[in-house]
Parts: sequence; C-alpha cells; structure tokens
Amino acid sequence: MIQAEPDDAFAEIRAAVARLCGQFPAPYWRQLDRESAYPTAFVQALTQAGYLAALIPEAYGGAGLSLSAAAAILEEIQRAGANGAACHAQMYIMGSLLRHGSEAQKAQYLPQIASGALRLQAFGVTEPGSGTDTTSITTFAEKRGDHYVVNGQKVWTSRAEHSDLMLLLARTTPKDKVAKRTDGLSVFIVDMKQALAGGMTIRPIRTMMNHSTTEIFFDNVHVPAENLIGEEGKGFRYILSGMNAERILIAAECIGDAKWFTQKSTDYANERRVFGRPIGQNQGVQFPIARAYAQMRAAELMVHHAAALFEAGRDCGAEANMAKMLAAEASWAAAEACVQTHGGFGFAEEYDIERKFREARLYQVAPISTNLILSHLAEHVLGLPRSY
Ligand SMILES: Cc1cc2nc3c(=O)[nH]c(=O)nc-3n(C[C@H](O)[C@H](O)[C@H](O)COP(=O)(O)OP(=O)(O)OC[C@H]3O[C@@H](n4cnc5c(N)ncnc54)[C@H](O)[C@@H]3O)c2cc1C
Repeated sequence: MIQAEPDDAFAEIRAAVARLCGQFPAPYWRQLDRESAYPTAFVQALTQAGYLAALIPEAYGGAGLSLSAAAAILEEIQRAGANGAACHAQMYIMGSLLRHGSEAQKAQYLPQIASGALRLQAFGVTEPGSGTDTTSITTFAEKRGDHYVVNGQKVWTSRAEHSDLMLLLARTTPKDKVAKRTDGLSVFIVDMKQALAGGMTIRPIRTMMNHSTTEIFFDNVHVPAENLIGEEGKGFRYILSGMNAERILIAAECIGDAKWFTQKSTDYANERRVFGRPIGQNQGVQFPIARAYAQMRAAELMVHHAAALFEAGRDCGAEANMAKMLAAEASWAAAEACVQTHGGFGFAEEYDIERKFREARLYQVAPISTNLILSHLAEHVLGLPRSY
C-alpha cells in the first residue's frame, strides 16, 4: 500500500479529488477509450469543483492555489486511474494570459475560464514542419489594420474540438528578418467559434491512446488585434515562462500514474497464486516493482523541489525539466512492471493496465521529449557545447 506522506499539506485536497474521481470508475474510462470519446462529464465535474481554476487568482474567480496544490490535484487524478490529459492544460495555458495579458484581457477571460463558461485548453505551438524546433514555425499572422490574418498549420493541438479558446503561437516577423530567432513570434487568443466560421479547419488525429488531439489549418483566419497577448514579437518569451509550470504539473501526473501502476502490481502480486504461492513471493516479480517504486519516490522529490523553487520565484528550468524526465521514466518503469506482473491479464481491456500503459508512454515525448531535456541539461547546466 503506497502511503501518503504524514506531513502532506494537501491531504484534504487529495481526498476530495479522489472522491470526485470515484464517481468516474474504470468502466467510464474504458468506454471512452473504446469510442475515442471526450470525458465531458468528468471535465465538467472538475470544473464545477473549481479544480481546473486552481491557479487562477481569487481576484479573477479562481481558487488562487499554489503550483504544489495544483500538482497534488493532477497527481490524484492519475492515481485514481482517470486521465487528466483531457483537461490539464486548462490549468496552465492561462498562465501566459495571467502574466502577460492586459488588465482588460484578464478581466474579460479569466473569470469566465474560472467559472467554466469558457474553456481555454488548446495550445497551438507544434507544427508539422518544425517539430521541437519551435522558432522555425511558419504559421504567420499578418497585421492588417485592426486585425491579424493567420495562415498556416498546427499539428498535435490537443482538445481543440473541446475548447472555446486557443492560445496560438505564430510568426509576426519572418525568421530571416529577425536579429534573434526567438524574436518575431507572437501569442494570440483565438476564439474557436469565430475562427471555425472564418477559415479555420480542425481535423482529429487518431492516436494509440484517447487524447482528442488534432491538426489545424488556418486559411486567412481573422483574429482581432486586441487578442494579441503582450507585445508583438515577444511571444516566445511568454510561452517559455509557462513551460516550467507545465513540466512540473505533468511530472506530478506521471507520479500519480506510477502510484496507480504500483498499487495494481502489488495487489495482483499478493493475490495471484501460481505453483501454489503468490507470484509476489518471487524476487523476479518483486524487484521490478520495488525498483520502479524507488524511481518514483526519487522523482517525486524532484517534483516537490522544482515546485518549491517555482513558488519562491526562483529559476527552476533545470529542475522542472529533470522532474518531468525522471517522473516520466518512473511511470514508464512502473507501467512495464505492472504489465509483466499481470502476465496475460496485463493485455486485457478489463484490467485497465493496457489503457494506462498506452497513456503513460506519451510523457517521454510530449510536451518535450527526453532527448531535448538531456540536451538542455548538457548545455545549460553542465556547460557542454550546444548539440544542435
Ligand atoms: C498526443 C500528443 C499531444 C500533443 N499535444 C500538443 C499540444 O496540445 N500542443 C502542441 O503545441 N503540441 C502538442 N504535442 C506535440 C509535442 O509537444 C511534440 O510531439 C514534441 O514536442 C516532440 O516534437 P515532434 O513530435 O515534432 O518531434 P521531433 O522534433 O520531430 O523529434 C523527433 C525525435 O527526434 C528527437 N530529436 C529531435 N531533435 C533532436 C536533437 N537536436 N537532439 C536529440 N534528439 C533530437 C526527439 O527527441 C524525438 O525523439 C503533442 C504531441 C502528442 C504526441
């Protein structure tokens, strides 16, 4: 049994989230997975309970909680066997608006996001032609009077069909006309209904797990100039400033996944009898579970450390990246051990392990792949030459 830490400051939040998730048991997720359907009722319940507005300040109708509290919420969702990927971005995307938006934009959007009247959970950064090299995106927003005209394509824009607003990163000055490649990028709030009526097309991408991800085409889509966040050309900085929070929150989800897998593994290893004894009595079965548990506990410390630095307003780029990488690896080790422990039943839909296994794999690739984290550490922490 994986115990909570005795001095856990978020025990009440965790218990409340677990109770809410209890209303959405495994058959609910199984059915959605089978149909590639969106967990609308679950997202509504989380919204009504205020969890998705955890990081929105109270002045704008949110809960005004700390990043550590938000991390505890997402961890518990995953630990309960649910899938926070359906809505986790609602927690952190609004960070760019909160930190860099005008007072008028914040007053217009944040209270409605907090109440659930508007969903902001689509984040359009990645493009087919640029991949991880974000400064090479080519989707272009050209200023024409009181609006911008957007042309281009995004890929892997998750939840776009279930979002009222999208945060869009686009070039406003071509890459070959800026002094620094990180200049000339801008961030916009796109009203999805307006854009869909005016040249934007969303096409779902079927993936190995149920993730509601899409590709989006912009064909002369008009975005009002007042929807530009902050200053034109400084968008890359605005996006970067939100990434540490994103990485820490996703790392917390991976910790929740690791705990779910490990609980399943130990329960089954204690209960399943082969050759007249529980399979968990065999060290060959115990050790991978114990090793994954140790990995998870170490990663969890890094998640807490990164969150503490973030909350203290200190630089936490390296720690947020390490937390995300270590937690994603720990959840994957726990997932692998869980499948192996369950033998053939690890592959049966009704055990939920194969579903969670597919879902857990994502976090070594998105929102940033492990190699890119390693190259960040090599260059910025260890002082090695830039490799790309
Ligand atoms: C299900 C899903 C949901 C997603 N949701 C969103 C979303 O909502 N919004 C959004 O904007 N994006 C989203 N993404 C995109 C995600 O952030 C990218 O897939 C991820 O950043 C990797 O980019 P890429 O797929 O283009 O890989 P690439 O950049 O093409 O890289 C491919 C492989 O090469 C490796 N590689 C590339 N360059 C180097 C290098 N210099 N050194 C070493 N290795 C390297 C990478 O590590 C990776 O393993 C999502 C992706 C998925 C799969």
